Amino acid sequence: MATISFPPIPIQHLYPAKSNSSNDGINDRNLPDHPTLSLLHGCSHLARLKQIHARMLRLGLFFDAYSASRLLTASALSTSPSLDYAHRVFDQIPQPNLYSWNTLIRAHASLSDPTQSLLIYSQMLLQGVHTPNKFTFPFVFKAASELSALKEGRTVHGMVVKSGLHSDVFILNSLIHFYAACSNLDLAHQVFVNIPQRDVVSWNSMITAFAQADCGEEALELFRKMEAAGMKPNEVTMVSVLSACGKKGDLEFGRWVYSYIKRNKIGGSLILSNAMLDMYTKCGSLEDAWRLFDEMPDKDSFSWTTMLVGCAKSGEFEAARRLFDAMPRRDVASWNALISAYEQGGQPKEALAVFHKLQLSAEAKPDQVTLVSTLSACAQLGAIDLGRWIHAYMKKQRFRLNFHLATSLIDMYSKCGDLEKALEVFWSIELKDVFVWSSMIAGLAMHGRGEAAINLFSKMQETKVKPNAVTFTNVLCACSHSGLVDTGRLYFNQMLPIYGIAPKVEHYGCMVDILGRAGLLEEAVELIEKMPMAPHASVWGALLGACRLHGNLELGEHACKRLLELQPRNDGAYVLLSNIYAKVGKWDEVTRLRKLMKDTGLKKEPGCSSIEVDGVIHEFLVGDISHHLSDKIYAKLDEIALRLKSVGYVPNMSQILQDVEGDNVKEQALYLHSEKLAIAFGLISTRPSTPIRIVKNLRVCGDCHSAAKIISSVYDREIILRDRYRFHHFKGGHCSCMDYW
Ligand code: ZN
Ligand code: ZN
Repeated sequence: MATISFPPIPIQHLYPAKSNSSNDGINDRNLPDHPTLSLLHGCSHLARLKQIHARMLRLGLFFDAYSASRLLTASALSTSPSLDYAHRVFDQIPQPNLYSWNTLIRAHASLSDPTQSLLIYSQMLLQGVHTPNKFTFPFVFKAASELSALKEGRTVHGMVVKSGLHSDVFILNSLIHFYAACSNLDLAHQVFVNIPQRDVVSWNSMITAFAQADCGEEALELFRKMEAAGMKPNEVTMVSVLSACGKKGDLEFGRWVYSYIKRNKIGGSLILSNAMLDMYTKCGSLEDAWRLFDEMPDKDSFSWTTMLVGCAKSGEFEAARRLFDAMPRRDVASWNALISAYEQGGQPKEALAVFHKLQLSAEAKPDQVTLVSTLSACAQLGAIDLGRWIHAYMKKQRFRLNFHLATSLIDMYSKCGDLEKALEVFWSIELKDVFVWSSMIAGLAMHGRGEAAINLFSKMQETKVKPNAVTFTNVLCACSHSGLVDTGRLYFNQMLPIYGIAPKVEHYGCMVDILGRAGLLEEAVELIEKMPMAPHASVWGALLGACRLHGNLELGEHACKRLLELQPRNDGAYVLLSNIYAKVGKWDEVTRLRKLMKDTGLKKEPGCSSIEVDGVIHEFLVGDISHHLSDKIYAKLDEIALRLKSVGYVPNMSQILQDVEGDNVKEQALYLHSEKLAIAFGLISTRPSTPIRIVKNLRVCGDCHSAAKIISSVYDREIILRDRYRFHHFKGGHCSCMDYW
């Protein structure tokens, strides 16, 4: 929004005469209404309004400011208002009274275009006829809240002070709301403490402001003060207090609030019951939530959905599903809750299955939230066909490509391996926020296009978009995947002094990764020692990975030990360490580790690779024989093995964790890796010259990496493999990662 400036309130109006002070323009008549005006009562139909308008003009009634304002109200503030028409009426009024101005300001503040409210307010001041009164300011502040227009709102606040209305509680309550909407809780609180006679709305506004800003502690503290001040809370208060409890996860206080509500017999409405239910699920007490849910005499779809989300968050997906199936009425929010429950609970396939069901159902139509969750599930699975379909659907249904959807689309295309398409979406968006920029930087980073990611980061700053902590994680990630050590060091060191963002533990993790991969292990260790916070597992994991890459056994053992102290059941740590032992030929240590894992009941997370063919996801585990084309796949694998051997390829045995006997068996075990099965399946089930896209849940192993390089040249196929950390584009015998991974 462009800045709107306001002319000052005309001097002669600053301390208005008594007759004006409580005058909203409508109370100063003691005459009964003209019969024509009574027709306006409850009338909102445009054609009818126009008839009355014509009649008022004929009778000369319209030229009475009061009567005209009644017509204006009927057109601007009815249940189905017509603002265009209201403006025409307003423009015809020879001398609109203050009430008419207020009506127009209020109508715009509550409806589509709050900027108009501020412009009309400014126009009114410019005319210099009326002084804004206590019915003007609250709606100006409402408009400014909608726009988060802090500067404009503060100017108007100054006018309130000058106009002598600075102790009007109605105005001050709207000011609390305004400052909170502009994320300025300090100013909101300042207004609150200076209200001479607070009413329950004042308390509610401030408690709600705290609760919505995730300041649960402050909200609850204020509620205690309200109690102590003898102010009786109402339902609105309790809904905010419950929300604060939920956000804080304070179950004990939540239970106390519950009994407080019962003791004081507050409310009893469905909204309050739903708020209690929400609090219990957020505080993680499904038991309390179920009890309340079963006791509730009335439930709406919000109650059912809250319960569903609560179950899903606690990992009880079956219960969530049963609730969904049992709902008497489902709306799009219920569908979205189930889809996002699966998507965020690491079950993207189920999420897509529910989405397919939604498409076939007449109950609801997908909305923006549905699409964001579904795109994210596609990204997790590498399901590019469905992702493309959703993109086309968005265009067909004319969804506005807002920041959320744009970010999700870019993320989906990047993670499904189609970087060009991600870039196309990115450049098609005119206005980009920090998340859109960051997601594109992340996309380039995971595809190993480090230089391009850094260039984009510079472009982002040219457009004056401020980077946040996520942006820096992605930038450092780009440096790490492309070996840009100096650039990484530079940005890491600039974070706090230049951008005011203190590096968090994940930034340290990235930096250790950058240094470690480049072989600067000593510098990496020094950085870990200098960290202002305790290193997370991710930091030790990065160091361990680097030790594997550079075959540093001593440091690797140390990093692994520290990592296992933090995450005793981290199977990846054992695997990485055994890789190091294998690399330096210490096979007895490999055997010892394997036994240790077995004794502690720790299993290596099974490698799983998936490939989408014609919109269907096929998953493969190690040595999988469950696929219906299994025979053909293994025949293809034999053929691949022969062709690779014929060009002089020797399998890399150091990648095997199992202490299998004999090189031949080891060789075979390597051939059973899930990514190789997926590649073989891709070769027999997709057209020649189409790229084979594979998603693997773990890091790709060194042998599969070398094999994929050769397959890409021997079979003349592009293979795009996404592993847990990044993309590998195999083409003509080379990989985009330049073997730097
Ligand atoms: Zn492998
Ligand atoms: Zn690679």
